[in-house]
Amino acid sequence: MDTIQELGEFALIEKIKTLFEQPADALGIGDDCAVIPIYNTNLLVTVDTLIENVHFFSDHPMEKLAKKAININISDIVACGGVSKWAFLSLSLNPSMKISQIETFIESLQKSCASRNIYLLGGNTAKDDKLSINITLIGQADKPILRSTAKPNQDVYLTGEIGCSACGFYAIKNKLSASDKCLERFLAPKARTDLIDQIKPYATAMIDISDGLLQDAEHICSSSNVGIDIFLENINICENQNLNDIDKITFGEDYELLFCADQKDRSSILAISDVKLIGRTNNSKKITIYNNGRIIIPKKYGFTHF
Ligand code: ADP
Ligand code: MG
Repeated sequence: MDTIQELGEFALIEKIKTLFEQPADALGIGDDCAVIPIYNTNLLVTVDTLIENVHFFSDHPMEKLAKKAININISDIVACGGVSKWAFLSLSLNPSMKISQIETFIESLQKSCASRNIYLLGGNTAKDDKLSINITLIGQADKPILRSTAKPNQDVYLTGEIGCSACGFYAIKNKLSASDKCLERFLAPKARTDLIDQIKPYATAMIDISDGLLQDAEHICSSSNVGIDIFLENINICENQNLNDIDKITFGEDYELLFCADQKDRSSILAISDVKLIGRTNNSKKITIYNNGRIIIPKKYGFTHF
C-alpha cells in the first residue's frame, strides 16, 4: 500500500489516533467534537474545512458559503448536544479575489454568528490558489451526547428530509433543474439548532449526517459496538427525480441528526415535529438496510475523501 488513496480517510484518522495518546480526562479523536471537561461543564471543540472545487464550486455565492461554513461546524456542536460559543476563522485566499466577494463573505458570517451569539475570537489568513475556509468552533454542553453510548434494542430516529443537498449538488454540477429547497440545502444548509432542546432529553447517542446516512450510522455502530437495522421506507427522502434513493441517502451534507433513544420514550419523541423513527439497534455490529422487508445491499455507504 503506497498512497493515501489506498489507505483511505478513516484508516488515516485511526493511524493518527493510535500514534497520539488520547487523554483519560477528555474525549479526543472519534466523535463529532472533542469533549474537554472544565469546572462543572464541558467544552466541545470541532474543526471543518471547505475547499474550492472540493466542497464547493467557484461560483458558490459568498453569502451562502459563509452560512454553510459556520453551519457545518454548528452541526457538530449540535450533534454533541451543545451550544456554540466561540469561533476561529482561517482563510486561504487567491490574491485576485475581489474585495467585494470577501466582504460579502465576512458580512454574512458576521450575521450568522451574531444571530446565534457566537463570538469570532481569531483565525489565520494565508495566500493560496484556491479559496479555503477553515472554522474551529467551540461550544459548551453540561451533558454531551456521544456516538459511543447507544445500546442494543433502542429506537433510531432521523430528523428532517435527506437527499436534498445531493440533488442540489447534482443539479448545479450537471446544469439540471432542481427546487429552490434542494439548491438551498446544498448551498447553505442549516444545522438543526431548532430541534436540539427537544431531542436532548431522550437521545442516548447522536451524530450529524455529514458524510451520508449509512456511513454516519456505521460510526454509531462502531463507536457503540451495536448494529442498526434501517428501514428505507420510513426515511423522509427528497423527491427530486435526478438521483436514486441510495445515491440520495449516501451523498451526505444533509446536516440532519441521527439519534438513538429508549423505546419507552417513543411516543414523546414522535410528538416532536420533523423527527421520524427509521430503525432499531441490535447486537449485530453491522448496518442492515431493509426496503419493505427485503434486505438491500448498497454499493457505497457514504462520502470519503480518498
Ligand atoms: P465530522 O464528519 O463529524 O466532522 P470527521 O469524520 O471529520 O467528523 O472526523 C471524525 C473524527 O476524527 C473527529 O473526532 C475528528 O476530530 C477526527 N479527525 C479527523 N481528521 C483528523 C486529523 N487529521 N487529525 C486528528 N483527528 C482527526
Ligand atoms: Mg459530524
